[in-house]
Amino acid sequence: MNLVEKDSQYLWHPYTQHKTAALPIAIKRGEGALLWDENNKEYIDAIASWWVNPFGHSNKFIADAIYKQLTTLEHVLFGGFTHEPAVVLAEKLIEILPKNQQKIFFSDNGSTAVEVAIKVALQYFFNRGETRTTIIAFENAFHGDTFAAMAASGISFYTQAFQGMFIDVVRIPVPVKGQEQQSFDALKEVIKNKKCAGFIFEPLVQGAAGMVMYEPTALDELIKICQENNVLTIADEVMTGFGKTGKTFAMDYAKQKPDMMCLSKALTGGTIPMAITTFTQEIFEAFYDDDINKALFHGHTFTANPTGCAAALASLELLQTNEMQLNIARVNESHLKFQKQLVNHPKVTTTRVLGVIFALEIKTDTDASYYGSLRNKLYDFFIENGVILRPVGNIVYILPPYIMTNEQLQKVYQVVENALETV
Ligand SMILES: *Cc1c(COP(=O)(O)O)cnc(C)c1O
Repeated sequence: MNLVEKDSQYLWHPYTQHKTAALPIAIKRGEGALLWDENNKEYIDAIASWWVNPFGHSNKFIADAIYKQLTTLEHVLFGGFTHEPAVVLAEKLIEILPKNQQKIFFSDNGSTAVEVAIKVALQYFFNRGETRTTIIAFENAFHGDTFAAMAASGISFYTQAFQGMFIDVVRIPVPVKGQEQQSFDALKEVIKNKKCAGFIFEPLVQGAAGMVMYEPTALDELIKICQENNVLTIADEVMTGFGKTGKTFAMDYAKQKPDMMCLSKALTGGTIPMAITTFTQEIFEAFYDDDINKALFHGHTFTANPTGCAAALASLELLQTNEMQLNIARVNESHLKFQKQLVNHPKVTTTRVLGVIFALEIKTDTDASYYGSLRNKLYDFFIENGVILRPVGNIVYILPPYIMTNEQLQKVYQVVENALETV
């Protein structure tokens, strides 16, 4: 049996209907923005492997930091113990996070980072003797696949089998251009009618919804409404964090600050699964008490894994180099040029760019659903042409590693343009 045949026998893949899906591609090796399969076919990874990999595959600098940590202290429990990589990482993050973020809590992936934030929002009010049990979230939000994160997510594909089993979540419209007032009004309405603990949102860009974007001024207004009503705000920066929007965090575009932030994906440069939820001192203090029942009884076995922390520290160092900042600006400029090229394209209804994120919507009367026929046709075309892109319905987005070369970017654009000819 070859690798793919054995895979079919033993493995169950995420987001996959195994009866109808094509067999997976076995990747053998990666370097920079490129991946090679077992037949040595080359692919450009134009979505940074689900948005985790800003600095390229098999990055030597991060790998060396990981090796060094693995051979010094690979892991130690974080209950009752601490270690330098966690402390140094926390200190460095607090330096660059919005100024009100003062406490760092570790977990393992984006969903758990969100899970922790939602539990903290609910327990914050419980600890203060107040009953607030509703969470507010955007329509078509994506916050992960564990239960509270899934409850906050609004894409029905992921949640339909579990309706009726969720914590109470009320959805408001995303304040995209022209819809801002509806969004503000809906938020005020929920807060008036329900006992709201928190509002969770993907700041400026809704990733899984197809890179749907809205303005920082609209976000500021929503946060202000929450602050006036003592509703905690949770910025889920799992996708947007660490440079994707052109600034370190999407929240850096806003004037208001969130009460909590969720980080994962690019945190370790796409090497080791790790996540962080960050908090204001005020939230921490609502749990700080002589009463043990007021503590946060949440943890994961691998909390603050030193090797993950070392990978995150090396990643941060790379992100902060002048060279990487120039890369982000270069990719952004390149996207803007491609966007100009597509103005008046007969097949394209709209395009949007923020930082290294590019998205276009294809004009279509046919099936534009999440995993519909148009999407599958596009996906197959991209793979055939050696470019990894995962369209969302009729939306094609590009989110390359920052180190993708100009030649590779041009090839990606060319393949996207060719794809437009086939639909
Ligand atoms: C990917 C993502 C998550 C979930 O992260 P996982 O590591 O897949 O659990 C949560 N929120 C946002 C905004 C994401 O993009």
